[in-house]
Amino acid sequence: MSEVLNVEELFASKVFTVGKMKERLPKSVFKEVKRVMEQGGELSLATADVVAKAMKDWAVENGATHYTHWFQPLTGITAEKHDSFVTHPDEEGHMLMEFSGKELIKGEPDASSFPSGGLRATFEARGYTVWDITSPAFLKEDATGVILCIPTAFCSYKGEALDKKTPLLRSMEALSTQALRIIRLFGNTEATKVVASVGSEQEYFLVDREKYLKREDLIFSGRTLFGAPAPKGQELEDHYFGTIRERIGAYMKDLNIELWKLGVTAKTQHNEVAPAQHELAPIYETANIAVDHNQLVMETMKKVAGRHGMACLLHEKPFAGVNGSGKHNNWSLGTDTGVNLLDPGDTPNENIQFLLVLACILKAVDTHADLLRQSASDVGNDHRLGANEAPPAIISVFLGEQLEDVVKQLVETGEAAHCLEGGKLQTGVSTLTDLEKDATDRNRTSPFAFTGNKFEFRMVGSSDSIASPNTTLNAIVAEAFCEAADELEKAEDFEMAVHDLIKKYMTEHQRIIFNGDGYADEWVKEAERRGLPNIKSMIEAAGTITTDKAVKLFEKFGIFTKVELESREEILYETYAKTLNIEALTMIDMASKQYIPAVVKYSRSLADTVIAVKAAGVKPYVQAELLQDVCAKLTAAQDALTQLEKVTAQAAAMKEAKAQAFFYKDTVKEAMDALRAPIDELERIVDKEVWPVPTYGELTFEV
Ligand code: ADP
Ligand code: MG
Repeated sequence: MSEVLNVEELFASKVFTVGKMKERLPKSVFKEVKRVMEQGGELSLATADVVAKAMKDWAVENGATHYTHWFQPLTGITAEKHDSFVTHPDEEGHMLMEFSGKELIKGEPDASSFPSGGLRATFEARGYTVWDITSPAFLKEDATGVILCIPTAFCSYKGEALDKKTPLLRSMEALSTQALRIIRLFGNTEATKVVASVGSEQEYFLVDREKYLKREDLIFSGRTLFGAPAPKGQELEDHYFGTIRERIGAYMKDLNIELWKLGVTAKTQHNEVAPAQHELAPIYETANIAVDHNQLVMETMKKVAGRHGMACLLHEKPFAGVNGSGKHNNWSLGTDTGVNLLDPGDTPNENIQFLLVLACILKAVDTHADLLRQSASDVGNDHRLGANEAPPAIISVFLGEQLEDVVKQLVETGEAAHCLEGGKLQTGVSTLTDLEKDATDRNRTSPFAFTGNKFEFRMVGSSDSIASPNTTLNAIVAEAFCEAADELEKAEDFEMAVHDLIKKYMTEHQRIIFNGDGYADEWVKEAERRGLPNIKSMIEAAGTITTDKAVKLFEKFGIFTKVELESREEILYETYAKTLNIEALTMIDMASKQYIPAVVKYSRSLADTVIAVKAAGVKPYVQAELLQDVCAKLTAAQDALTQLEKVTAQAAAMKEAKAQAFFYKDTVKEAMDALRAPIDELERIVDKEVWPVPTYGELTFEV
């Protein structure tokens, strides 16, 4: 019998939960903390001191020696600088571990080495981390010991956001304010805030660590830059939801335990479509915490993989020719009194509040499709979006039959008199119960799909933070709510006005609705006809955040200033150029030090064979032909290598970030593809024994 896991006891054992605060803090202090958590405001320093001491005592009891302000700079990953609780010893040499309210609330890491997009010159190195009281502190344990991690926002000396959390928190407040205006119109006087909830399904690959370490491309760029396809890919679809193998199962078990301890509600796990690909989904929670938790999920996935002799690949496209990985960002809106604004009820056609919310979301997504697409772009995702596997790069909304029908009625007649029902699912087997059918089938190809009582934004990249997509979603929907509330609050006849507004929004923005196959070529043409943007790459999307439309939106709700947006655009170009530069240099290194030398050696042994066979008096047809072929491809590879070296050097010397990024995309990338092609062809014909790195087959099928 295996050891019994007590998950209830384990859960959140490494988190300084509200429950632990309640236990450890004096009543009045706890009340103040709760108030600030729920309604905002500031903690007095005296209160912060008490909280800090309780937090430190709990952490130390659990083995912590250090604390860190844990934050999310614009690198896309998290950052931490550890400080111990050690203080100056007294005269007798006794030392007490201490942690003050000031240290809890504010930190001052040297900010000069984090991307700021020109927001902060290096000599203005000051940056502050500020405690985010709404996301619980937790303990992280690794080789450095146990560290108390305090989730924080990260700002410059002048208060500009240098991270992903600050704008997210700003967007959540904006959305709450505007959504409250909407529900007040419908007579809801009880709710005091509206919270965006997020559940993110995370896809990942696992490969054997020994093999991983033999591939510089995986180590340096997170994806394979060379590699011929394995004889078998994902065509049999036998991996999706397939039985989980022992080694992977042991990994998943450990991963769940680690996540549960951190208070992450790991819920679902399964094999994904591609070989060696898997997925984990937690239960949804407040957007801000969901973002923090998704970072922890990614970090923990990597850590636990190491323990199991594997490497976890979070890159959006680790292997050419098989599906890449993404993240489904499930998003909904709920009041603090438990009402989900995206719940249509049984008869959505009669649910006016829902229809207004839906109309506003359609308007928001249509008006800002470019921003939404941008929010899901990162360097790796360029390999997925629009490449026939992930959703296309065109934003559209899937509503499903039932809602589409309601919208159609509203647009055509201004009334939605009836609605389609789910009916019963009959299997034709008498021993199986008939099921209540959902009114809507699923659609796997839509980038933004309504799934019952939430929207599922499916474009997000697997390695990306989900902060930007949610910040953008919150912002654009806040704007639509605000505009609707502006109209409706002054209406004399509310019922009439809301009716007209729903019809107006739905009519004006129905072009964003698409229930068909998002992967089909016809859709690309149809979308163009409808005037929907089709933004093909990350850097083409980058400029969407500084258009007048975007600046107006983000400034209006205090989410980003124009300067912050401009700096972020700059960082996107820089990130793109740096990433491509690493990839190009890695290819150059692998080609010149591994592939070409291996093939040279192989051609030598072929040449020897040709001579030996000839000397034996036989015509070496096959050997000579193979030698010809190998040498021709080797020449092609060498030429492509020389070209890649040339353009990479050219690119690296460029000074202006945007032009440089585009040069990498248009010229360097092409040279990379040109080098990959002959090497991959060589891989197919060269003796396996001399091939210098593990192949796709070995990486994805022999885990
Ligand atoms: P599927 O996408 O396969 O339908 P689920 O519906 O179970 O799977 O949910 C996927 C993710 O969506 C999970 O993380 C789940 O917690 C989250 N989710 C479910 N309901 C909501 C909601 N109302 N708001 C936000 N996320 C939700
Ligand atoms: Mg899903």
